[in-house]
Amino acid sequence: MYLVASLIWQKLRHTLIFEPMALPAKQLNFITEIIMQNSASLVIIGSGIVGCSAAYHLSKLGWKDILVIDQGELFHTGGSTSHAPGTLFQLNPSKMMTKFSKYTHDLYDSFSIDGVKAVERLGSLQLAHNPERWKELKRLHSISKSWDLETELLSAEETLRKLPILSSDKLIGSLSTPSDATGRAVIAAESMARKAIETGAVKFQGKTRVSGFDIRNGVVRGVITEQGNISCEKALVCGGIWGPSLGEMIGMNIPLQPL
Ligand SMILES: Cc1cc2nc3c(=O)[nH]c(=O)nc-3n(C[C@H](O)[C@H](O)[C@H](O)COP(=O)(O)OP(=O)(O)OC[C@H]3O[C@@H](n4cnc5c(N)ncnc54)[C@H](O)[C@@H]3O)c2cc1C
Repeated sequence: MYLVASLIWQKLRHTLIFEPMALPAKQLNFITEIIMQNSASLVIIGSGIVGCSAAYHLSKLGWKDILVIDQGELFHTGGSTSHAPGTLFQLNPSKMMTKFSKYTHDLYDSFSIDGVKAVERLGSLQLAHNPERWKELKRLHSISKSWDLETELLSAEETLRKLPILSSDKLIGSLSTPSDATGRAVIAAESMARKAIETGAVKFQGKTRVSGFDIRNGVVRGVITEQGNISCEKALVCGGIWGPSLGEMIGMNIPLQPL
């Protein structure tokens, strides 16, 4: 009896853990929720857009043995990513932020799940209703040229032709960024998770709430969860608005206040 159970377990273990690429991600989520992994080189806490992005990019950089855990269900975890309507802008006075956002737009543009795209490139309009704002938009337009992002200054008439539902009252003009998008944050997050899983370097586990850290001599040695302890060399906190409560677990004040 024990032998049969053991053989079934070995077979299941092999199928469920060692051949994740053969399984559709939804099935895989279910499976990773059942099997508690008790060690990893890196534990990422939080499978919102930030945790999924970290897992995706670190696995691309060659990191191995990464476990991403979340207290919620994968990938609608109940965090901010599950709630964001997904307005995305690229243009920013900071060149670095603009480059990051351009990269993000292009990356998400390559993702879709079951035919649902992670982003729609609908374009954006920033409106000016007073001279000061109009001056600012003109300045942003010249910045965008320097940052290699295509934008266009539109008169009030041109703006209204693009978006007839706007009120013409006091409208001076707008700055159009045709490649801006609206995003489906959970699709983007899950897409990055799937790509990370495909590398074989990353596993995801939902319904696993972190309640503390195993710290020895100031070094993290493990993550304590309500399902058991996970020993690790490093832990990366991607807990979003839960950051302060995760920080509290190691006596660290994280000055973040959700509004
Ligand atoms: C209503 C709303 C609208 C928004 N609109 C936009 C928008 O239009 N455009 C835009 O760019 N941004 C928008 N944002 C902001 C954007 O959604 C967030 O900045 C982003 O999703 C944060 O991602 P995250 O991964 O840091 O956090 P989250 O998505 O919150 O992920 C953190 C994860 O950590 C997990 N976690 C926390 N504590 C623990 C624990 N103890 N153990 C295990 N897991 C834990 C949580 O379950 C959660 O899944 C919006 C946010 C909200 C709430």
